[in-house]
Amino acid sequence: MNEYVARVSAALRQRYADEPEYLQAVQSWLEMIGPALEADAPLYERLDLLTRMVEPERMLSFTVPWMDDQGIAHTGHGYRVQFNSAIGPYKGGLRFHPSVDRSVVKFLGFEQTYKNALTGLPIGGASGGADFDPRGKSDREIMRFCQSFMTALYRHIGSDTDIPAGDIGVGAREIGYLFGQYKRLSGRTESSALTGKGLTYGGSKIRQEAAGFGTVYFLARMLERQGETLEGKRLAVSGFGNMSWGVCRKSAELGGRVVTLSGPDGYVYDPDGVTTQEKFDFMLALRTSGQDRIEPYAERFGVQFFPGKKPWEVAVDVAVPCATENEIDVEDAVAIVANDVRYYVEAANMPATAEALRLLRLSPRVLTAGSKASGSGGVVVSALEMVQNSIRYSWSRKEVDSRLRATMSYIYDISAAAAEEYDLGYDLIAGSDIAAFKKIAAAMIAQGL
Ligand code: GLU
Repeated sequence: MNEYVARVSAALRQRYADEPEYLQAVQSWLEMIGPALEADAPLYERLDLLTRMVEPERMLSFTVPWMDDQGIAHTGHGYRVQFNSAIGPYKGGLRFHPSVDRSVVKFLGFEQTYKNALTGLPIGGASGGADFDPRGKSDREIMRFCQSFMTALYRHIGSDTDIPAGDIGVGAREIGYLFGQYKRLSGRTESSALTGKGLTYGGSKIRQEAAGFGTVYFLARMLERQGETLEGKRLAVSGFGNMSWGVCRKSAELGGRVVTLSGPDGYVYDPDGVTTQEKFDFMLALRTSGQDRIEPYAERFGVQFFPGKKPWEVAVDVAVPCATENEIDVEDAVAIVANDVRYYVEAANMPATAEALRLLRLSPRVLTAGSKASGSGGVVVSALEMVQNSIRYSWSRKEVDSRLRATMSYIYDISAAAAEEYDLGYDLIAGSDIAAFKKIAAAMIAQGL
């Protein structure tokens, strides 16, 4: 490792010792972009570029007081990290989950910055959320929480400053309440101040499906390189939310079969595949039930349920993690390799621990793609939603879908090209990190200090 990089890395370790997810994301990125840093290290050092890239430009934290249906008050902790605006206004999701803290929000904001740069669209990176647990909350409680959250946040966002969207625990319903409150407080119907909106008030078609569709489009390009298609392929998927739902639908359309879904309670194995409308609809119903359990799927369709287990023990062709960070540990990675899984394509952010990812990347039989590239479908359609809002128009499903497909293909191409340029072979993870890094670095240098 170059001396300057080593110094930045050591400073980070010291400063963020208590922010494990954030440190993990940045350290792994520094490792990936190493080859691109070598060439221009003196310039980057003179401008202290790396330090500015690994620190958020602004970090907001605020309290979110709200009252439950029994009249008892609670105080949530809310965050928004405006990570990097070199390429465009801050853009990224909001997550409502008990695990949300500074570290999680910063790791998400960091990843989002590089994800967004890869799309080729003018969007900077951000993230945010709160430690609120939407599970088991009434609709009115969710509305009150969203309104309180937006009351704290509204002065910091806007279509040219920062555009939030959804993430875990924040879907169309929450975006609706957040947007309603933003409109009320600002006195303006500023459509592209939030994305992921409902279709009746400025949302884009395909936004709900986008994350999953995007990952499958990316996978299709990887398969094509090997002279293969999705036809007959078996996929292991974790989670059962939006992302998983999109992967099931698009892979079924292209001839593949998702054979696992998972929840915090375990996983289901459906050898026929999650390929019918009835099963897609059941996933949605499960999600809106708010129970966060996958077992009912097994009961409904008469398939096996494995309590407390993860789907990575199933022998498949493709593994697509769609749940949350660090769900794949070394043991899971070993199982993936041992099962001769040929493609490991990330949809969720940083789904593997550092050691697990290293193991997968270095295994010669497994072709890997990282979430900053293969997991960017959601934000791609968010950016398309902003375009439609700004021209006061609404494209057809077909139009949005084909733009999503083309953008995923572009991300694939620049990732593969960057890996080749730095003699990294077919390392799509390093390639995508390098391509995004170079773009952001150039934009930051061009705009001065
Ligand atoms: N959390 C989402 C993602 O990473 C949303 C980002 C957005 O649409 O702004 O794709």
